[in-house]
Amino acid sequence: MTIRAITLDLDDTLWPVLPALIEAEHCADRWLKQHHPDVALAWPIEAMRALREKITVDYPHLAHDFSEQRRLTIRHAFAECGIAEAPVEELWRIYYVARNNVELYPDSLAALERIAARLPIASVSNGNADLEMIGLHHLFHARVNASGVGAAKPDPKIFLHAAEALGVAPTQILHVGDDPLLDVVGAHAVGMRTVWLNRTGDAWSHGPEPDFVFSNMTELADWVETATDTHR
Ligand SMILES: [Mg+2]
Repeated sequence: MTIRAITLDLDDTLWPVLPALIEAEHCADRWLKQHHPDVALAWPIEAMRALREKITVDYPHLAHDFSEQRRLTIRHAFAECGIAEAPVEELWRIYYVARNNVELYPDSLAALERIAARLPIASVSNGNADLEMIGLHHLFHARVNASGVGAAKPDPKIFLHAAEALGVAPTQILHVGDDPLLDVVGAHAVGMRTVWLNRTGDAWSHGPEPDFVFSNMTELADWVETATDTHR
């Protein structure tokens, strides 16, 4: 197997995303309480979360665009309170900054640096993580996300877009991610080799097995170094 590039999921692969998402909700809620207490009262965190879930269902054409879903949620919440001009961008910015204040898994940075020294890496994410804000931008040859492509994993389009950005055939790309369906099944369908990053020791139960299962990014970096030594 000759691997010439890596495509890499972000959320829950390089950092746990849930703590950042929860903190982002709290930051937005604190700002609302301060600046629009009536809206904060009408839309506590739980209600705001339910509203966003409803919007996900009601606007399926935004399924690939989490940012737009959140903007629309803000607009709806304010409109329900009789406020037509919602401070969408201000509130979105507060959410976005907190959402990107992630704490990397302890193995992520060193492993990424080792991998980037051997192979080009493209991020492939359905979320709205900002690699520049997170400080990892320089380690990625390309950054591909669902809102930019107009399609979310496991849609073949987003994987093929990443392959094109890297200038490498899908069969020579190793896709790495934590999600069995979005990452492993999705990448396999376009002919990529796959790594299931299984940090939690779960059992595989999603059809054809991934090519590799690693429990952290260090194991991936070890594999990349060995594989690229062989092919030099
Ligand atoms: Mg993920």
